[in-house]
Amino acid sequence: MRAVLRVALAFLVVTVIAGLAAWFADRPGAIAVDWLGYRIETSVGVVIAALVILLGLLVAITRLALWVLRSPGFIQSRRAAARRRSGEIALIRGLVAVAAGDAADARKQAIRAESAAEGSPLSLLLAAQAAQLSGDLEAAGRAYRLMLEDDETRFLGLRGLIVLARRRGDDQEALSLAREAQGLRPGAPWVASEIFGLQAALGAWTAAEETLVGALRHKLIDAGQGRRARAVVLLGRAREAAAAGQLRDALGHAESAHNLAPDFVPGVVAAATLLARLGKLRRGEKMIEAAWEEAPHPDLAAAFGALVPDESPDDRAARMGRLAARQPDHPESRLLAVERALARHDWAKARAILELLVAEPVVPRRAFQAYARLEQLERGDERRAQGWADKAATCPMGERWVCRSCGDVPAQWAPHCPECRSFDSLEWRQPDQVTEIIAPPPGPADGTLAELSAPQRV
Ligand SMILES: [Zn+2]
Repeated sequence: MRAVLRVALAFLVVTVIAGLAAWFADRPGAIAVDWLGYRIETSVGVVIAALVILLGLLVAITRLALWVLRSPGFIQSRRAAARRRSGEIALIRGLVAVAAGDAADARKQAIRAESAAEGSPLSLLLAAQAAQLSGDLEAAGRAYRLMLEDDETRFLGLRGLIVLARRRGDDQEALSLAREAQGLRPGAPWVASEIFGLQAALGAWTAAEETLVGALRHKLIDAGQGRRARAVVLLGRAREAAAAGQLRDALGHAESAHNLAPDFVPGVVAAATLLARLGKLRRGEKMIEAAWEEAPHPDLAAAFGALVPDESPDDRAARMGRLAARQPDHPESRLLAVERALARHDWAKARAILELLVAEPVVPRRAFQAYARLEQLERGDERRAQGWADKAATCPMGERWVCRSCGDVPAQWAPHCPECRSFDSLEWRQPDQVTEIIAPPPGPADGTLAELSAPQRV
C-alpha cells in the first residue's frame, strides 16, 4: 500500500515539476544583476533552478547537523563534560568544606567528586583531607598512598603521609618519608624544615645541624631564624656531649651557641656552667656577669649561684652581691639583695629593699613571697605573712618560659616544649592569664588546607 502511495507521490511531483518547467518555458524572460561592478544576465529558468538547488543544499546541511547532534558519540561526550563539571563543583565545595572544618560535608563532596572523576588526583586529595578532618586516619592514609602512584601527586601524597606519621608519633617513619620527598623536590623549604624538625625531635642533634647548615647554604630558610635555630641545636649537642662526659666538646658547642645568639639566656647558662665544671670558674662568672649587665634574668642568677656547688652561705651571698652590683636598681638585682639580707638576718635592710620593690608599678610575685618570709622570720607575724602570701597568689605570675604554640608554662627552658614538643617555642614573657586556667584552643588540624599554607616551622 505504502509503495503504491510512494509511486503515486513521485508521479505527482514529476508531473508538477514538468508542468512548472513547461509553464516557465512558455514565458521566457531574462534577469540582469548589476553588483560591485559585475553584470550577470541570465534567464528566469536558471535562477529558479539555482534557487531550488540552494534550498536542497540547506535541507541537506540541516539534516546532517541533526544527525551529528543525535549520534551516540556526541551525546556521550556531552554527558562526560557534564560529569566533569559536576565533579569540579563537588571538588570546589569539598575544598571549601575542608577549609571550613565541616567534615561531614567534605566527605559527601569527596564521594561525589570521586564518582564523577574516578581516581583523579584532586578528588584523591579531597578524599584524604576529608577523611583526615573527620578523624578517619586509615582512610586518609589509603588515599595518600594512592596518590603516590601518580608522578604528579606523589609529593602531595608523601606530605600527607608525613603529617599522619607525625600524628601517630612515629617520627622515624615520618623522617624516612620526608627523605623520599626530598628526593622529589630537593629545593623545597618545607621538606628541609620538616627533616630538620624531625631530626631535632628525635634528638639527632648532629644530623639536625647538618640539615640546618645545608638549608641555610641554599637559602631555604631565613638567615636570622636559622642562626637562632642553630644556637638551640648546638645547645642540644652540648647537653648530649655533657651527658656522655665529653665536657670539652660540650663547652665548644655551648660557646658556639653563645656566639651565634649572645642574648640567649640558656646559651649563657650552659657555657658558663661548663666553664666552671672545667675549672674555669672566673671565666664562667664573667660571662654571666656580662649577660646580667645587659639583661638580668632569674635563670642567670640561679646558674651563677650553682657555679660553686659546696659554698658557705656567706661566700654565696658575697658572690651574689657581686652579680647584683652590675645592675643594682633592677628588680632582679634587688630580689638578690633581699635574699642576701634575709640569709644574714639583716631584717632592716631586707625590709628597706622590699618597700622599694612593692612600690614599683609591676611587682614581681617573688617580692611578695619574700615579704611574707620576712614577716615570719623577723616577728613571727603569721597574719601579716598571710596577707603578703595572698597578694603573691593573686598578682600576675610575672615573666616565665611560655610556649608560644600551646601556652604551656614549663619550670625551665628546653629545646622542645615538654607539652606539645614544638621546637624552640619557649619564650620569656608574661603568660596569658587565661592559659593558666583554660587550655588554649587547638590549632588547625595538621595537613589540612590551613596547614598547607602555614609558615615554616624552622
Ligand atoms: Zn607547647
